Amino acid sequence: MPVGMEKLYGLQPEFRNKVEKVISEMENRGWSIRIVWGLRTEEENLRLVRKGVASPTSKHLQGKAVDLIDRQTGYTENRDHKFYRDLSELARKHGLIWGGNFRTRWDPCHLEAP
Ligand SMILES: [Zn+2]
Repeated sequence: MPVGMEKLYGLQPEFRNKVEKVISEMENRGWSIRIVWGLRTEEENLRLVRKGVASPTSKHLQGKAVDLIDRQTGYTENRDHKFYRDLSELARKHGLIWGGNFRTRWDPCHLEAP
């Protein structure tokens, strides 16, 4: 079972549907998913912006973004990690944008609605 399912509350329903599919397919591939972030308040987002790890116009503010990690792997800088390859593949399959393709700030745990 994924950890942090309560972080899916408040997500835009169509986006949430797709995210749930990605999560269940990732778990079927053997990953243990933790949902790190879903919807963010302005205050939560601002705190992350000040640390340099979020955009002031983040889609997390609209409930149209999530951050997922594998509980064993955590956050890794290894761009070729299988977790990121699987996540990007399933994001594409379900019509979501994968943050590993962002040019301004590589964000491989992040998925968002188009
Ligand atoms: Zn994110």
